[in-house]
Amino acid sequence: MKFTEFNLKQPILDSLQELGFEAPTPIQQQALPVALEGRDMIGQAQTGTGKTAAFGLPILNKLDDSNKSVQALVVAPTRELAIQVQEELFRLGKGQRARVYVVYGGSPIGKQLERLRTNRPQIVVGTPGRILDLIKRKALKLQDLQTLVLDEADEMLNMGFIEDVKAIVEETPENRQTLMFSATMSPAIKSLSKQFLKEPTQIRIEAKEMTADLIEQHFIKCRDDEKFDILTRLIDVQNPTQAIIFCRTKKRVDEVTRGLGLRGYNAECIHGDIVQQKRTSVINTFRKGQLEILVATDVAARGLDISGVTHVYNYDITQDPESYVHRIGRTGRAGNDGVSITFVTPMEMPYLRTIEHLTRKEMMPMKPPTVQEAQAGQIQQLIDQANEMLESGQAAQHFNTAKLLLQHYPANDLVAALLSQLISDNSQVQVAISPQRPLPNANKKEAKRSGNRSGSRQGGGKGYKAGKSDRSRRYDDKAGKKEGSHKAYKIKKRQA
Ligand code: AMP
Repeated sequence: MKFTEFNLKQPILDSLQELGFEAPTPIQQQALPVALEGRDMIGQAQTGTGKTAAFGLPILNKLDDSNKSVQALVVAPTRELAIQVQEELFRLGKGQRARVYVVYGGSPIGKQLERLRTNRPQIVVGTPGRILDLIKRKALKLQDLQTLVLDEADEMLNMGFIEDVKAIVEETPENRQTLMFSATMSPAIKSLSKQFLKEPTQIRIEAKEMTADLIEQHFIKCRDDEKFDILTRLIDVQNPTQAIIFCRTKKRVDEVTRGLGLRGYNAECIHGDIVQQKRTSVINTFRKGQLEILVATDVAARGLDISGVTHVYNYDITQDPESYVHRIGRTGRAGNDGVSITFVTPMEMPYLRTIEHLTRKEMMPMKPPTVQEAQAGQIQQLIDQANEMLESGQAAQHFNTAKLLLQHYPANDLVAALLSQLISDNSQVQVAISPQRPLPNANKKEAKRSGNRSGSRQGGGKGYKAGKSDRSRRYDDKAGKKEGSHKAYKIKKRQA
């Protein structure tokens, strides 16, 4: 299924293209037809599944530019979620320059009053208490509201916001469209939906119970802007024979691949915008074992049957549990061991638990390797390669030069100098990955923001900067996978 199959305005399709969204997620596939028709809907979905776009795209699609009033209101339980939703709507609405504003408690109300008056937002996202406060002060007027979204309704119930929510709903017009999202469908949620929604369609991702027994599954909890560094350290330490890295969008696939290239890793990518011929050749190279790392979107990797993948890295968590099982099923084939590591942001933790529940397998938390462990991993790889070269006789061609050099330099100095050429400090190579979530304080500068804040990790916004990247890695006939850190280097004695 493609986004173009829905009746979305061109600027929205442009934004989706720019964001690199390849296809609608399962929850979007179900929600979009219902919500775009203007019907009320109750969706069972969590953060990480793409639920924001599921309600955001229909809101944006019906925005009327000539109307200066607030046309949509999204009520969310926490400040963090409200900011996250605002950021996502801003990105999705960039093509049509939608004005999206976020309000939340715990920050001065004066500024928010002023902004509401001067910026005339079309979409307001906020937490219940502050929204109500702004309504009472007549700064937030909802008489022209078209769409009301109650996000994470179960959380709002749990947090005791229900009276505030009811009071907000009373301020909205009768003929509004109401969309409600909740991770659970408890009786309390159902009764709430009866009160606020008109003949709602209920949607949810049909989640079958699945098993993924043979694979060692881990997760690393981290921020989005930490993922790239952690990934490279993991690769250094784990030294996968062959790995697939899964990203959520085409754009992220491109950026991660380019970033890995800059740091000297042997990585290529596949996604829907890459011509079929190229995709086939990349897959064939990977299949033959000549490519160490394949970076892919779910769509591009669908149906890929490759054995020998030792590691699957879920750079972004999957948007439905079934895809998770498909992804990790790429490893551990033909009776081999497999390892999967899923990066998860704090907001996505509840969704990770849902996946664990459905797969009936706990993912073990993993600490990201340190810089020292990563360097130790690189050195161990060099030692392994040196052993192989000595054993195969390939090094013999340099024996005379070695002898000559050792007459002039102390052995320690010489080895140290050669090592520093082979292992450069690549952590300094600047790699920019588009943030999934710009930092909350960036939100305040929304008018100036480009929406594509490259270089967030260094804060420089300069994009990629080439640096020393030649790690002189060898990629042919690697001997098996290695796990854990390599603090004690394993140096084989040569037979005389
Ligand atoms: P949400 O569940 O709305 O918090 O979305 C989780 C993440 O998925 C966000 O970073 C979105 O930008 C991203 N996302 C939403 N829809 C899609 C899609 N169709 N393809 C790829 N990424 C998506």
